Amino acid sequence: MSKQVRVRFAPSPTGPLHIGGVRTALFNYLFAKKNNGVFYLRIEDTDQTRFVPGAEAYIMEALEWLGIAPEETVGKNEKFGPYRQSDRKEIYQSYADQLINSGWAYYAFDTPEALDAHRKQHEAEGKTFIYNHHNREKLDTSLVISADEVAKRIANGEHYVIRFKTPVDETLHLKDIIRGDVKFETNLLDDKVLFKSDGMPTYHLANIVDDHLMETSHVIRGEEWLPSMPLHVLLYRAFGWDAPEFAHLPLILKPIGNGKLSKRDGDKLGFPVFPLEWKTEEGISSGYREKGFFPEAVINFLALLGWNDGTDKELFSLEELVESFDLNRVHKSGAKFDPEKNKWFNHQY
Ligand code: GLU
Repeated sequence: MSKQVRVRFAPSPTGPLHIGGVRTALFNYLFAKKNNGVFYLRIEDTDQTRFVPGAEAYIMEALEWLGIAPEETVGKNEKFGPYRQSDRKEIYQSYADQLINSGWAYYAFDTPEALDAHRKQHEAEGKTFIYNHHNREKLDTSLVISADEVAKRIANGEHYVIRFKTPVDETLHLKDIIRGDVKFETNLLDDKVLFKSDGMPTYHLANIVDDHLMETSHVIRGEEWLPSMPLHVLLYRAFGWDAPEFAHLPLILKPIGNGKLSKRDGDKLGFPVFPLEWKTEEGISSGYREKGFFPEAVINFLALLGWNDGTDKELFSLEELVESFDLNRVHKSGAKFDPEKNKWFNHQY
């Protein structure tokens, strides 16, 4: 690998860290250590409506307890930090302006009611409403109104968002280290919101601007973010930046039904889904630490839920995991618990 490996764990502080998130952090940690790289922590807290007090401290404490604390974290690196996105608002604003000026983004003034009406009208015609070139001429955007009018409406304090102008009629052939070749049609993508008039970027803009500025070499994250990959790659292109490499990790699934394993599933099966206890007014959710588990055991368990070294070996120290870790051996399918057999298996979708 020619470039210095820099990987990050980038949780949104919306609650306690789930074991799925811990496993993402662990795989980033192992990949960094294996490649003499750096593992850093970035708190993605631009969505203030979902902010949960105490979650950031919980995440740091949990990673510390597990022995996989990042070497760069909030307040620890002057060159790249701060690593809390709410402390970096001005940075994102200038990049949103850059995209407007280069024609890769535009202002949109549609109200929630107007968008709802468009959606309903499409439904009535048996179609799905996609906010992109299919509908652009009917929407209330700077693509169809004059620059003067736009300036006036912004000056009047009208609410707006900045949306990405998705290219039309393109098939993106992308590479994911775990998934292999993946294909996306740009015509099926919405023109996603990048920035809001309250001065806050959305996850997409903040995430890719930071990955670029913080020199992230590999984005290793949960599979739920795979649908965001085409937009992210297009954003790198729009800025004229090289994109990092991507690896989307399969999920830890619900034992029955679809989706990610939740706290309730854990309660039913009798194991915690949080590393540490989480106390709220509604009650206490148990954690592995308080149940008396050793952090090494939790790490070992989580590593083997999504990866193996190609042998039957089942007990690994953290050092051994670093030594044998290889992203190419991460499973492609999600891990699922079979309550009848009382064991985990790899679920084929
Ligand atoms: N903030 C996102 C999350 O909460 C991070 C996604 C990513 O790693 O790009 O999972």
